[in-house]
Amino acid sequence: MSFDYDLFVIGGGSGGVRAARVAAAGGAKVALAEEDRYGGTCVIRGCVPKKLMVFASEYAEMADDARAYGWDLENKGFDWDHFKTKLHSELDRLEGIYRNLLKNAGVESFDARATLADPHTVTLSDGSTKTAKHILIATGGRPWVPEFTGAELAITSNEIFHLDKLPESILIVGGGYIASEFAGIMNGLGVKTAQYYRGAQILRGFDDEARGLVAEEMIQSGIDLKLGTNVLEMHREGDKIRVKASNGDESLFDQVMFATGRKPNADDLGLEALGIERGRGGEIVVDQYSQTAVPSVYAIGDVTDRVNLTPVAIREGMAFVETVFNGNPTSPDHELIPTAIFTQPEMGTIGLSEERAAEQETIEVYSTSFKPMQQAFAGRAQRVLMKLIVSQATRKVLGCHIVAPGAGEMIQLVGIAVKMGATKEDFDRTVAVHPTMSEELVTLKSPVRTL
Ligand code: NDP
Repeated sequence: MSFDYDLFVIGGGSGGVRAARVAAAGGAKVALAEEDRYGGTCVIRGCVPKKLMVFASEYAEMADDARAYGWDLENKGFDWDHFKTKLHSELDRLEGIYRNLLKNAGVESFDARATLADPHTVTLSDGSTKTAKHILIATGGRPWVPEFTGAELAITSNEIFHLDKLPESILIVGGGYIASEFAGIMNGLGVKTAQYYRGAQILRGFDDEARGLVAEEMIQSGIDLKLGTNVLEMHREGDKIRVKASNGDESLFDQVMFATGRKPNADDLGLEALGIERGRGGEIVVDQYSQTAVPSVYAIGDVTDRVNLTPVAIREGMAFVETVFNGNPTSPDHELIPTAIFTQPEMGTIGLSEERAAEQETIEVYSTSFKPMQQAFAGRAQRVLMKLIVSQATRKVLGCHIVAPGAGEMIQLVGIAVKMGATKEDFDRTVAVHPTMSEELVTLKSPVRTL
């Protein structure tokens, strides 16, 4: 049987674009459909604009610190219009790059929504159909807001980059990556920021000591973080939103942003009719090679809800191409993934938290918290944390947790050592780079506790 293409990719985000390009570079005839903008969540409404907003929001503190160092600076405030215009032209430029990458790789792209008609056929929103030997679903996810009275007044991370003006006050709901990052961003930009989280501490699942320090520093920097607190209902009141909280508080905010998790974009794709299985959260169920219950259909990235990070989706896309087009069955490696949370202060982490590791075996915890030189000189009370979790039996570093400016950059490099199976003694025999914050990771003398 002959097909129009060897591969049809649905979704032009990080994972889909990479898989399409690599398959095409290997000689496959590839097409890709994207209903929205090329680049997907990460480039258009996630990592990239978020990080640029983090940068923007950090300059207020930097200006204060510069003054403490003797610079004569005048801070006349932040111009949202200026930043927003520049931000969106940068996103346009990046989208253009993504389109060109596909074009130059020989991938045919369709600005259309695609749904599955049968195991080898997709229907595009213009009514045309295309056949392919393999179909790859890489449709990502979208923000999810729970149902309650006034939920329609909430914005999500999709809208935050498009605000007409910066609000005077904002409430951010949730305690995950997105909520905690945007609380820092908004606070840094000078917006009066509150964050409500229903649980006992933000960033559930991460090392307790690390997330405790992040929360403490966020509060110190002026964020009104309320734990054990959720939104009950919201009502429009003039140009403000009245929020009734579970702790009995009633407050007015200009904007309320919900960052209460994301859902896979797997509805209305025609999956059910084909017998493609979906999990409890609506994600597409795949095996270790990203193959669905229908052998010609694969899925990668957030739509499969494995580890929802851009570099992981890219890896899953490459492993798919290796498996399907290079005859070399390869499963993406989901172990020991370093990651950063761009809160203020930033957190970088790899491996097991102290709590998880202690459930598994006897561990030694090496940890130090101190005031970094640069900020201490400027008169800030801010502390950083450098922490290693070590297996007592094998001496291997099972986890590393850093809370510090630049923690994302640090954990990328520590990640190599941890992934290689470095022991505490390997860290110890590495000479310190002085004076830095991360040198503490190689000079941690004795455990603070053994569990
Ligand atoms: P998360 O799943 O990380 O967090 C969702 C938060 O919302 C949790 O605090 C959760 O609470 C809370 N929540 C869930 N349901 C409700 C509810 N009904 N009412 C109140 N609160 C609720 O999702 P995010 O949206 O923050 O991020 C999505 C994913 O995007 C992340 O998992 C991550 O993989 C990725 N991401 C990565 C980034 C990075 O690498 N720096 C940055 C941004 C996103 P509870 O803890 O109690 O369940």
